[in-house]
Amino acid sequence: MNTFNPKKNPHRRYNPLLDEWVLVSPQRSDRPWQGQTEDSGHDQQPSYDPGCYLCPGNLRISGEKNPDYKGVYTFDNDFGSLMKEEVGQPDQTADFFAMKPERGINRVICFSDDHSLTLPEMEVSDIRNVVELWQQQYRELGAMDFINHVQIFENKGRIMGCSNPHPHGQIWAQSSIPTLVQRTQNNLKKYLDIHGKSLLEDYIEQELKTGERVILTNEHFVALVPFWASWPYETMVVSRRKISDISQFSEPEKTALAEILKGLTVKYDNIFQTSFPYSAGIHQAPTDGKDHPEWHFHMHFYPPLLRSAEIKKFMVGYEMLAEPQRDLTPEQSAAVLKSLPAIHYKDKDR
Ligand SMILES: [Zn+2]
Repeated sequence: MNTFNPKKNPHRRYNPLLDEWVLVSPQRSDRPWQGQTEDSGHDQQPSYDPGCYLCPGNLRISGEKNPDYKGVYTFDNDFGSLMKEEVGQPDQTADFFAMKPERGINRVICFSDDHSLTLPEMEVSDIRNVVELWQQQYRELGAMDFINHVQIFENKGRIMGCSNPHPHGQIWAQSSIPTLVQRTQNNLKKYLDIHGKSLLEDYIEQELKTGERVILTNEHFVALVPFWASWPYETMVVSRRKISDISQFSEPEKTALAEILKGLTVKYDNIFQTSFPYSAGIHQAPTDGKDHPEWHFHMHFYPPLLRSAEIKKFMVGYEMLAEPQRDLTPEQSAAVLKSLPAIHYKDKDR
């Protein structure tokens, strides 16, 4: 019998945050770096688009007019998935037909007044204003009595179903703790109960020992490809300090998060020399008024691209029916991300 080699042999890896496994098939990606890039010239947006509902001074479909804002700007989504209104409980009939009314608030956050920018093209000081607004919104929404969870996220790129290139993210604040957050919370709590320490504190300590999957670090944050990543260039940003939520960030921590977000997203754009699409978001303690010593602030980046700006990984077939699967190993992805320059490809010629 041959000895097990994780660089050659198919294997499964455990994801302790979601208590699930991912199938890794390294034998299918002996060519880790194809180096396919796209001509980036044609995706340049104007700084102001009169037809964009997020640009300053423009009219939205609701009839409301955006102020002539500079920097960040937030407003309640005109087409939210949730509503503030309280309604009565439905008559509970049988187990198979469970329903619960859900209250909430959806907000849009414009990262910049400049329509042509994206996070990696923004200055660190301007990204810091986004972090500042996230903190303020988490506090403001989380303080409302009917809001028990505040999900901050960004859906970037047409391939991710984002229809507007104006740099923006969203906040969905709601009365329930959503499924994946609850699952993560249960696993973080289980680990804390057994080990008396934060799962992610122990995990990043282990990762920093070898550094193999670590992409960027600064005094307060670590960006890495998690050992259990399922998307080709999936990453996580974890705070070094066990901070349960963004409301506890110090001033230096806000700057440090902005710096690491800039560094990571620049590398993302440099992979295929294209504006790199992803869904990204913050996982942190719910705002349900309870103590959450188990929570440890982190961000997930789930980018779909695999081989080029056009070739994306699909999570279909086996993934939909069985479990996530990947060919490119997390170590290969980390090697690619580490090798990329820290300067945005568009800035190279400037
Ligand atoms: Zn715009």
